[in-house]
This record gives sequence, structure tokens and C-alpha cells, in this order.
Amino acid sequence: MLPGTVGLVQATEALKLILGVGETLIGRLLHYDALRMRFREFAITRDPECPLCGDHPTITGLPEA
Ligand SMILES: [Zn+2]
Repeated sequence: MLPGTVGLVQATEALKLILGVGETLIGRLLHYDALRMRFREFAITRDPECPLCGDHPTITGLPEA
């Protein structure tokens, strides 16, 4: 059930981004507590020092298997 619930949220977000409509989760982290059936939101900001998506990323690919 959990993948279904989260998958629906992700699909909805993808459609909103593709269609350019609505209010996306950009800048917000959505926390889903299935046991208590609660959603909570946390405001997040981009970290310019992030090694993956910062201004100067050092992680640019997948590690060799
Ligand atoms: Zn990042």
C-alpha cells in the first residue's frame, strides 16, 4: 500500500511539472506517516554545497559496479 500511496503523489507531481499547473512540492518535503494517516510538510532550501546538486557537484555519475 505504501508504494501505491507514494507513487500516486509522485505521479501527480510529475504531471503538474509537465503541464505547468498547480503548486508543486518544490521547496517542500512531504512526510507521510501511514500508521497515523498523516501528512506533514517541511520547508527545505537548496544547499549550494551539496555534492550532488550544488553549485560545484563532485558526484556526477553512478559508481562502477
Ligand atoms: Zn543536493
